[in-house]
Amino acid sequence: MTDLTRLTAADTAAALTSGDVSAAEVTEAHLARIRAVDGAVHAFLHVDAEGAVDAARRIDARRAAGEDLGPLAGVPIAVKDVIATEGMPTTCGSRILEGWVPPYDATVTRRLKDAGLVVLGKTNMDEFAMGSSTEHSAFGPTHNPWDLERIPGGSGGGSAAAVAAFEAPLAVGTDTGGSIRQPAAVTGTVGAKPTYGGVSRYGLVALASSLDQAGPCARTVLDAALLHAVIAGHDPLDSTSVDAPVADVVAAARQADVAGVRVGVVKQLGGEGYQPGVEQRFREAVSILEELGASVVEVDCPAFDYALPAYYLILPSECSSNLARFDAMRYGLRAGDDGGGSAEDVMAVSRDAGFGPEAKRRIMLGTYALSSGYYDAYYGQAQKVRTLIVRDFAAAFERADVLVSPTAPTTAFRIGERIDDPLAMYLADLCTIPSNLAGNASMSVPVGVAPEDGLPVGLQVIAPPMADDRLYRVGAALEGALADRWGHLLIDQAPELPTTGGAQ
Ligand code: GLN
Repeated sequence: MTDLTRLTAADTAAALTSGDVSAAEVTEAHLARIRAVDGAVHAFLHVDAEGAVDAARRIDARRAAGEDLGPLAGVPIAVKDVIATEGMPTTCGSRILEGWVPPYDATVTRRLKDAGLVVLGKTNMDEFAMGSSTEHSAFGPTHNPWDLERIPGGSGGGSAAAVAAFEAPLAVGTDTGGSIRQPAAVTGTVGAKPTYGGVSRYGLVALASSLDQAGPCARTVLDAALLHAVIAGHDPLDSTSVDAPVADVVAAARQADVAGVRVGVVKQLGGEGYQPGVEQRFREAVSILEELGASVVEVDCPAFDYALPAYYLILPSECSSNLARFDAMRYGLRAGDDGGGSAEDVMAVSRDAGFGPEAKRRIMLGTYALSSGYYDAYYGQAQKVRTLIVRDFAAAFERADVLVSPTAPTTAFRIGERIDDPLAMYLADLCTIPSNLAGNASMSVPVGVAPEDGLPVGLQVIAPPMADDRLYRVGAALEGALADRWGHLLIDQAPELPTTGGAQ
């Protein structure tokens, strides 16, 4: 029999609809895969085997009763541990939330369940989504399925690795500065950051509220589109949610055609500091788009040179405020409560014990940047740069329908290599951050492996706000043309994983 874990979500859905397999069988196959390989990968922080099998059986019963189910009903999914799941732990990769079980579902979780997707468990991440390697998780790093000594990207390394390791066909991630796209790039998967406000943030533990956005992780562009369609759309529970129709991303992924599309190559995102193999694969992919009928122009976005410093003022500012809620008084870790100290003492001891070094660094930076004497010099300046970036995008989109760049300057680096060098870590998001600052839609699509290290390279496609369908149209066209050349990257080129077991 076919290995059910190797199917795309679309093929799994078709097999479920035709009755060739049951949701319970598909779920069991993925749980077995998790048991076999997650000891080596560590994509999951929590696996809900029993709950998943129960949910799958309920879907099978509803299907047998002739109910008309959604297109992904019965397909398993992994959820990043920053998204609230009722009755299932949600730690954000932090000790401060260890053991916390949310009493409610995030809107994203609710939509997954309403659409009949089967939640397998929660995936590992950098603490509160701060990082580019998943090494900042309080529960140990996730390993890249392409090379277990390397990082799977971050902060959503767990979601990307789960999909790349065939532990789940789909996962949900969140992207504040690149945490869906950069992990997708370094694991050979597809990841999309929808337009800001396109997917509800209700129940998503906030890192930086003006930047955070949940989105799909998958092995194909069509699979990502199918998931995008399930989670996107207006939500009255999120005041920043856009009350407008969602672009038809599934039709766009099926259309997969770039004839006449104007593609803008961003001048600032490439050149010095970029790994040669990344640049090579990127340039080849751009020529393929041209061969497929797209027209290619270079676009100039000078303010992008200041995106990284602006982001590292805006993000810490917002996060210092958001993380103030973890005060040991309402939920989460409480340490030092021996009756001898004040509430402030307990808060200080708990926050010291509960937050890791990166969270502390950003809380301190943000508190400083927002302090009255420095507000204009730092936070105010950064917001001005943000406006310049929005203007650069607007000008670029006059000349191009989509913009492209490498997703990340390098392939997956080694675990431990950048952990003591925050600036080197921050550079991993050089190409992805502008889209978060501007709030537009963006995706990473695999474009092969770098010749020098055999590791995956991602190409980033950027579309104007609410034109998310363009990502899928261009991404799917490129994916199709590349598959004709060297097959499916993950299925045909990714190394076999050791089945050491040892997972939950
Ligand atoms: N790596 C970036 C950061 O550390 C992005 C994080 C994210 O997108 N959640 O802030």
